[in-house]
Amino acid sequence: MSRLLGKVIKSIAPYVPGEQIKGEDIIKLNTNESAYPPAPAVEKALQELPYNSLKLYPDPTAKELRETAADYYKVNSDQVFFGCGSDEVLSYAFMGFFNKGDKVYFPDISYGFYKVYSKLYQLNAVEIPLDKNFEINVSNYLNLDGGVVIANPNAPTGICLTINQVEEIVKSNLDNLVIIDEAYIDFSKEESAVSLIDKYDNLLVVQTFSKSRGLAGMRLGLGLGNKNLINGLERVKYSINPYNLDYVAQKVGVASLKNSGYMKKTTQKIVNTRETFSASLKDLGFSVVESQTNFVFVKPKGITGEDYYNKLREKNILVRYFSAPRLKDYVRITIGTPEDMKTLIEETKSLL
Ligand SMILES: *Cc1c(COP(=O)(O)O)cnc(C)c1O
Repeated sequence: MSRLLGKVIKSIAPYVPGEQIKGEDIIKLNTNESAYPPAPAVEKALQELPYNSLKLYPDPTAKELRETAADYYKVNSDQVFFGCGSDEVLSYAFMGFFNKGDKVYFPDISYGFYKVYSKLYQLNAVEIPLDKNFEINVSNYLNLDGGVVIANPNAPTGICLTINQVEEIVKSNLDNLVIIDEAYIDFSKEESAVSLIDKYDNLLVVQTFSKSRGLAGMRLGLGLGNKNLINGLERVKYSINPYNLDYVAQKVGVASLKNSGYMKKTTQKIVNTRETFSASLKDLGFSVVESQTNFVFVKPKGITGEDYYNKLREKNILVRYFSAPRLKDYVRITIGTPEDMKTLIEETKSLL
């Protein structure tokens, strides 16, 4: 580490992304990417990109993309903010809406970045333990004295609150920002909280194109909320990087949104695969947390979580293992194609 480093970055434990291994024969089920490619309209948009346009700066307002998203979500375009991945939207929200030392509440088991951003912006992170079934107890989130961040569905558990539960939390924290991170909502049977943004000016809903739209490589995420909240995110953006969305990403985002029927079809396929796969794991005696996402959180039987992860890895199947105390008996498995999951089940049987 450089002796010149500032003290915040020196003491932070940065987020550790899942491995991005490449190779024809690797079944990659470790970072919750889509099992399917992006919509055909995206490929067409890429082929038709005017090459010369790359010499110009992209539209800093991402007007066409925001308007297309506004149509899709049935909101106004001033209620939409796009970031370079939803990670950027989350980080701008943490930076813009909280002051040094402010409390920010989130579950003890959730997306790892909430803790990292809290540390980065010198906030006071308060982790609220999930119950023994990995569920959020809504009563722990009422009338708090700080911001709230909840991944819904949660990761790595896959469990989802209902929109009524989300509303209860938002309604009881009117003077605090409540961020609902809906990275996996397209795989869930529960309704998105986007329908609440007209009613509550303290609610920011965050979504991403990385999971359900098969565009993790493009880096597109968005925040939806009251126009004053969105303006707040814009103030942050125009203080850091006005051109946070490149030209290609804006075009691809528009094509993906206009072709949302494809997303609905592929997410339904993944949900079907998830259900079949979960049933096969249960047949092997594994415990499987009921998932509303494109991954399952699984406690293997007859082998430890870590050994299972390592043995699968030897077979070129990559899943995610977390060594944290409450997670160490489990592995998180992204839902791939039906063929991927069949191979995984066969390898599992042979190694038990
Ligand atoms: C994947 C994920 C994100 C980040 O998505 P990007 O848009 O790729 O930055 C945010 N939150 C949760 C809960 C996720 O699982």
